[in-house]
Amino acid sequence: MIGGGIAGLITARELGRQGLRVVVLEARDRLGGRVWTDHRLGRDLEMGGTWLHWVQPHVWAEVTRYGLGVTRGPRPEKAYWLAGAEVRTGTLESFMNLIDPGMQALLADTMRWIPRPDDPLAEPDLAAVDGFSLQEKLDELDLPPAEYHANEAAWVGHFNAPLGEGAFTSALRWTAATAGSWHLMHEASAVFRLTGGTRSLVEAIVADTDADIRTSTEASRIEHTADGAVVTTAGGTRIHARRVVLTLPQNIIGDLDVSPPLCAEKLSAGKEKAASQGVKVWIRVRGPIAPFFAYSSAAHPLSVARTEYLGDDDAVLVAFGADASKISPNDLDAVRAALRVWREDLDVLEVTGHDWMADRYSQETWLMQRPHQLTRYLAAQQRPEGVLHFAGSDYANVWAGFIDGAIETGLRTARELGTRLAPR
Ligand SMILES: Cc1cc2nc3c(=O)[nH]c(=O)nc-3n(C[C@H](O)[C@H](O)[C@H](O)COP(=O)(O)OP(=O)(O)OC[C@H]3O[C@@H](n4cnc5c(N)ncnc54)[C@H](O)[C@@H]3O)c2cc1C
Repeated sequence: MIGGGIAGLITARELGRQGLRVVVLEARDRLGGRVWTDHRLGRDLEMGGTWLHWVQPHVWAEVTRYGLGVTRGPRPEKAYWLAGAEVRTGTLESFMNLIDPGMQALLADTMRWIPRPDDPLAEPDLAAVDGFSLQEKLDELDLPPAEYHANEAAWVGHFNAPLGEGAFTSALRWTAATAGSWHLMHEASAVFRLTGGTRSLVEAIVADTDADIRTSTEASRIEHTADGAVVTTAGGTRIHARRVVLTLPQNIIGDLDVSPPLCAEKLSAGKEKAASQGVKVWIRVRGPIAPFFAYSSAAHPLSVARTEYLGDDDAVLVAFGADASKISPNDLDAVRAALRVWREDLDVLEVTGHDWMADRYSQETWLMQRPHQLTRYLAAQQRPEGVLHFAGSDYANVWAGFIDGAIETGLRTARELGTRLAPR
């Protein structure tokens, strides 16, 4: 197993249950990959993946299996958004009502194009729509300016990318996963989190597997034949395996030295990169404050901000920007300036975050595809190559880019492998 993120750990657990011997190689000194609960700003905060929902079947099964607690942040009492340079305020409901006509129009044909989210390539004419960016489809609607800006802002939050670079089909896949309901899609992607953090999920899976898990062990080379593979670590250790499961994100899978090389589609997707390229920032402000959320635009360093924790004399906000090169999550002054777009009154005390785009073991946040990537690459990204198998949220069918998707692919890969390998 290459990678000790959620996909790798789930695959390892399931293969172990089938009596197979598994070695997990994880380059970082911790497990979890793009989920990482770390103690900062006086609280356990999620640097990466956070929110989950009962409409995400694979992750919810893990919540039930391990009895994990689920909670949510405070309900926003006030909303801020931009209409051009002007800051508008209202209730959460008034913002949702404002974006509703645009959302309905944009997503009207969701089930036509993605009739079965568990089989995202099922529609034979999908390529006809997969070439559009979300920006192009939004522009086609010719919405009044206030509605246009509000819809754009809501999508920038979801895409973590400039909308001109994100595929319209990615928006369709998210919405198809909630049977066409954009309200439920919003809730599923950004409200409920684990009480014990994603750390509690990682620890539960690790306690449930007898795999040989080696952290701080980077795989650097894989040589494979029809009979098996040899994985060489950066430290020079050679490990022989009947099968190898790679769980690396789309953006870095091509960095591995694989001989014979991976198929052209897997490598091309990695070279093009995913559309998502943003940043997540945690911000501690002086309190007490009333919970709020705020949307700006892709052009602003931070396009979404909201209250996630309320204390007696402070509050912690979570914010996202569409372009990690525009703002560092650890730059107090830049974050302070970015918040002033909506609110001059907030007293920013501390900021923190992890730059996933600069992290050589991710170079990605959550997967949002570029136009054409779904129809050109997904099938090939999922396909085994001889003794090499591929798992990872980026290659999921239903909730690709989510924790749920990582589990989906781990379960599938372990089942497929288990039927081919007799226990040793
Ligand atoms: C900022 C951010 C916010 C997110 N928010 C959400 C959210 O709210 N809800 C949600 O469901 N999802 C969210 N996600 C997405 C979610 O976290 C990921 O989709 C999921 O965790 C990916 O799991 P994975 O196992 O497929 O990949 P990864 O977690 O990337 O695992 C791959 C592993 O491989 C390791 N690795 C890389 N190279 C090597 C090598 N050469 N040798 C050995 N090991 C290697 C990595 O260190 C990593 O541990 C978010 C992600 C980010 C970054």
